[in-house]
Amino acid sequence: MSLPAYNEKKHEKMLAIGRKLEKKQTHQLEQPFVETIMQTLEFFGADGRDLGQIKIDLCLAKYKIWDAMGMWYSSEYFQSKPIYRGIDKLVDVYIKQNHVGGFAWFLRGHDLECEEPHRCEDCIKSYDDWHNQTPEERMEDQKEMEKFYGPVIDGGDD
Ligand SMILES: [Zn+2]
Repeated sequence: MSLPAYNEKKHEKMLAIGRKLEKKQTHQLEQPFVETIMQTLEFFGADGRDLGQIKIDLCLAKYKIWDAMGMWYSSEYFQSKPIYRGIDKLVDVYIKQNHVGGFAWFLRGHDLECEEPHRCEDCIKSYDDWHNQTPEERMEDQKEMEKFYGPVIDGGDD
């Protein structure tokens, strides 16, 4: 399968949206964000080494999503690997959703293999409902989610 080409206009658009959206976002990403980003990239063929790097960027270096995605999207290393199909999809979803929580919830709720990235109000609303839960409710939700999606992927050690 051929890999998508780097598109400078798309890159700039994503950065512009991200700077605006994540201005007030904390650097501590909520757990489902890291999981769903890594699961999406793994689905599109990221290997263990790639996922290790992604996890470091998101969890240790604590880059904001748009900042990390901008690095991945413009990385010549990733551009020649299967992971790039996934990165390209992430960028498209981020631009279309124009909402950080809606971005992550889209990745969880939609099948990007057969659906083109688009704006989904249901995902945005579903994120907002989740975000406004009490800590107890959220704990329950996290347990439920792990039943479906499994615990967070550990791609760093191989
Ligand atoms: Zn949706």
